[in-house]
Amino acid sequence: MTNCNMKKTFVGIDIGGTKLATVVADDSGKILSKVRRPTQAEKGPEYIIDLLFEMINETIVQAGLKQNAISAIGVSCGGPLDTKTGIVYSPPNLPGWNSFPLKARLESEYSIPVTIENDANACALAEYRFGGGKGYDAVLYMTMSTGIGGGIVLNGQVYHGANDSAGEVGHQILLPDGPLCGCGQRGCLESLCSGPAIARRAKEAIQKESNTMIFALADRQIESVKSEHVLEAALKNDPLALKLIDETAYYMGWGIANIVNILNPDIVLLGTIAIAAGDLLLVPIRKYVSSFAMARPAEVVKIMPAQLGDTLGDLAAIALVV
Ligand SMILES: [Zn+2]
Repeated sequence: MTNCNMKKTFVGIDIGGTKLATVVADDSGKILSKVRRPTQAEKGPEYIIDLLFEMINETIVQAGLKQNAISAIGVSCGGPLDTKTGIVYSPPNLPGWNSFPLKARLESEYSIPVTIENDANACALAEYRFGGGKGYDAVLYMTMSTGIGGGIVLNGQVYHGANDSAGEVGHQILLPDGPLCGCGQRGCLESLCSGPAIARRAKEAIQKESNTMIFALADRQIESVKSEHVLEAALKNDPLALKLIDETAYYMGWGIANIVNILNPDIVLLGTIAIAAGDLLLVPIRKYVSSFAMARPAEVVKIMPAQLGDTLGDLAAIALVV
């Protein structure tokens, strides 16, 4: 079925702590095939690299292609990692990956160029190429899930900083005496607005006032309270849930305003919880950003939900190589 005017095709690899995915896509971002497996991270990098080789070969066959039709491989992986050398340094969710030469191993197996990138940066680039950031020069992408990660795309390129550490938007400190953050500091944006942080604030509030729909949704088990319960209760106008959402928007707005003053982005795209919450969270975030940020950058910045939804993880790795 091959012919000479065929589009270029690429392999994308998404390495997460719980799942691995490989896709084949063309240069318009169209996914031609996909294979997904559990990571079994505890088995270490040698097991995972062998599994990835198997998955890549299977994905290429599923797309009806031969290996020589693939032009390049993009890899989206939890950091820290070095995008130049392609070495992955001990990501917290991948035990045993101590300076693992991921790029070199893939290049020696397939003899084509391999680009590796940390997952939040890769997602930012995917939103820039295929999603809500299309057509803008300065794009900030922020996840809101178990953590708050971020990626900055300036003039079509991921901004990496001096040693691939730029974009850690979740670790700006807002409250120096605030809750402990996973990074060891106190009061980071992540320690106030990630999913677990929203749940923690909800639990603290329920200890004082248990007459809330949040508690009922968690079957009146305090340890079962999750950010999803807060969202659901807020959508049904539960007063405590609405207060917790407003507090979340306040801290998010504060954090985003800090970045808006420094970066002057065209657009800020918010993922995960912000997508699930929609206007419930986005409307107050916009209000707080415009009250905290300086007038000129606040005037232009758009604050929107990320657009790629379920395909974001697949396209993140592909965006690195198209
Ligand atoms: Zn932190």
